[in-house]
Amino acid sequence: MTKPVLSNSIAARDVAFHIHSQTNPQLIERDGPLVVARGEGVRVFDAAGKGYLDAMAGLWCASLGFTNDRLAAAAAKQYAELGFYHTFFQRTQEGVATLAEKLVELTGMEGGKAYFATSGSEANETMVKLAWVYHTVRGKPTKRKVIARERAFHGSTIAAASMCGLEFMHREFGLPLPGFLHTLCPSPYRGMLEGEDEAAFVERLADELEKLILREGPDSIAAFIAEPINAGGGIIVPPARYFARIEAVLKKYDILFLDDEIVCGFGRTGNWFGKETVGAKPQMMALAKGLSSSYFPISAVVVAPEIYEALKEFNKAGGNFGHGFTNSGHPVGVAIALEAIRIYEEMNVVEHVRKLGARLKGHFDALAAASPIIGEVRGAGLMLGIEIVADKETRVPFDPHLQAGMQFDRIAYDNGLIARCMGDVLGFSPPVIVTEDDVDEIADKVARSLKSLEAYLG
Ligand code: PLP
Repeated sequence: MTKPVLSNSIAARDVAFHIHSQTNPQLIERDGPLVVARGEGVRVFDAAGKGYLDAMAGLWCASLGFTNDRLAAAAAKQYAELGFYHTFFQRTQEGVATLAEKLVELTGMEGGKAYFATSGSEANETMVKLAWVYHTVRGKPTKRKVIARERAFHGSTIAAASMCGLEFMHREFGLPLPGFLHTLCPSPYRGMLEGEDEAAFVERLADELEKLILREGPDSIAAFIAEPINAGGGIIVPPARYFARIEAVLKKYDILFLDDEIVCGFGRTGNWFGKETVGAKPQMMALAKGLSSSYFPISAVVVAPEIYEALKEFNKAGGNFGHGFTNSGHPVGVAIALEAIRIYEEMNVVEHVRKLGARLKGHFDALAAASPIIGEVRGAGLMLGIEIVADKETRVPFDPHLQAGMQFDRIAYDNGLIARCMGDVLGFSPPVIVTEDDVDEIADKVARSLKSLEAYLG
């Protein structure tokens, strides 16, 4: 990585003044940052001009790549017309109404409504607050707790981080907050017991959830939150019928299902939303990232009609919904999101992702057949993971001290490919605009990087 050598270089000033997200402060001081100088389609370039195909779309988000003239034009047009207005106190703009209508239609939340925020974390926290309102209005104010899953990622604000099922999101902060619980992760590769088939695994996951609910008291549980396919925990595709069984348990105990579509939305899994890929029927959905291809910090929550009705009922005596962000429904974010959705529709994102995702997975499956260290290739659409292991037969992982996944990232980076390891799961979530050539290039660079990794690991 670039060393911050010059006293006033970008890297040196960054090291001197900037606190990085999700970065070890020791490492940034030792090695310095990667300075991203510019983008071009699916690629970014560093300050020295070296190009990288970003097979993670940044943070699973820049679905339309790192430069897009139409999104830039939509932003410029909106800035020229109205650079800011808010959505408090009965204010709105045309784009807000149009985008809300479009999101309700696209998500199939018939009769529902959309709320805008600016980050995925805010969207997830908004869903929790709405769940509390919903139960309170129905005479169940004790229903407050939220169940998430081990290995989940739902964001960095305090409640969203509490919903994460990842130790590194809790460690420094004494989280999770009380009332945020975790149930088993539906990972067939890591979670199934010996002799257990997928159907039995699903039954056990549903039983464990039910046991947790009964232990805590059904009258204390407001909601269950899940991604259709867990992204940040290591691309975990639940077994067939998982959500159907989980939803039956939730229904039995009057618990809402909050669907975190922040990564899975907007075609990523080969359907408009991940819920279609896994057959889930949530009462609320959180959207972000692909919504604007991350060209603006905008997120949304789409709710079923009964959630909105509860909100209305709660405030029938005249109060306001006591929630809102300065930039909720920001006109520029809304204009960019509307243009991004137009592009997804015109390119037929669902078909494109299915086709290109199948091609990439085909390459990875072929690699797996020949590789001594690929334990599993999994995912859906253009959201794929390769789990590398010390022993394919027994699924024994590498010694964590080897940091095998991290080594892969370093080697791939040297080969001009940005991937993202989650432990020893190598993640791939490229911009959805990738071409066949891009996909072939990703596969080729992965193959070369894996070969070097094998040599490195001995
Ligand atoms: N939910 C999921 C599944 C995510 O992957 C992320 C971010 O990576 C979030 C929520 C949080 O979104 P944000 O970082 O915009 O708050």
